[in-house]
Amino acid sequence: MSNLSGIRYPWEKPPAEGEAIEVAEGVLWMRLPLPMALDHVNVYALDDGDSWTIVDTGFSSRRTRAIWEKLLAGPLGGKPVSRVIVTHHHPDHVGLAGWFQSEYGAILWTTRTAWLFARMLQLDEQAVPRQETLDFYLSAGMDQTIFGERKSERPFNFADVVYPMPLGFKRIKQDDVIRIGGRDWDVHMGNGHAPEHLTLWSRDDNLVISGDQVLPSISSNIGVYATEPEADPVADWLEACERLSEYAQSDQLVLGGHKLPFTGLPTRMRQLIDNHHGALDRLLAHLEEPRVAGDCFAPLFKRKIGKGEYGLALVEAIAHLNHLYHLGDVRRERREDGAWLWQKKE
Ligand SMILES: [Zn+2]
Repeated sequence: MSNLSGIRYPWEKPPAEGEAIEVAEGVLWMRLPLPMALDHVNVYALDDGDSWTIVDTGFSSRRTRAIWEKLLAGPLGGKPVSRVIVTHHHPDHVGLAGWFQSEYGAILWTTRTAWLFARMLQLDEQAVPRQETLDFYLSAGMDQTIFGERKSERPFNFADVVYPMPLGFKRIKQDDVIRIGGRDWDVHMGNGHAPEHLTLWSRDDNLVISGDQVLPSISSNIGVYATEPEADPVADWLEACERLSEYAQSDQLVLGGHKLPFTGLPTRMRQLIDNHHGALDRLLAHLEEPRVAGDCFAPLFKRKIGKGEYGLALVEAIAHLNHLYHLGDVRRERREDGAWLWQKKE
């Protein structure tokens, strides 16, 4: 058992590939690999008696489908999957939802925004970045070498890691109460990491399914993209964390999208909120001098950002700058090359 300011991890190790750990009666925790720095995603299966409900699905690849087949035949005992619940639209969560729908006849339950975003991005396949994306990178003052490479490279495409999504889903919305795995769950929407991000709170025991809205030991990425360059997801994140904190209890077992299940949710919610306030304070001090977003990593991350993390760091820097801008703490002007220069207001 580890113990860091009230946060405890009842399982020190995750399940091995193709295996499951029963974390509560009828609730299985499983893992799928991701080919990134964050190298795994957690998925769950809840026993509905004659079938399973799956929560989140992993990237779509030949390898992850093979692991799922092993899980379905092994720990899941060959019982059908009747429902797939997706917490948010990101590809590590929605990746195989369409596969469960088309190949297993499962019904997809998720939020309307998650479904629309996932399906739009799945269909929006690009061989090279769109001009809007390149303009957005320039406005962020992206490192010139990285910009030069990205300009002509195939960008990250949902279609490469998300199985085709058929029409049809069931919408889950705020204040719904849904029955899964012999429990009634309250639905509360998260926001900021992904819009209309589902979280589930059991009425019958101490389980919380949090997706990436609440993670232990790592912070969920909060990013701004060319889709909505003026967005303020940090405000959305803080609002959601404050609102969800009302339901947090220290004995709840939190089942998140990455890392280990944990207890100590009130402490973790406080940390998630405080970490961003701390980052915003450091960023504002850094803006005594005018700077572009690409020059704002040091105060936000307090460590060297490698090439593999550059993209995520950049969208996160823009998110925090946009937040200070919407608060009225900074002003911005265009540099000759199109980059926004941000500076603290006097
Ligand atoms: Zn995730």
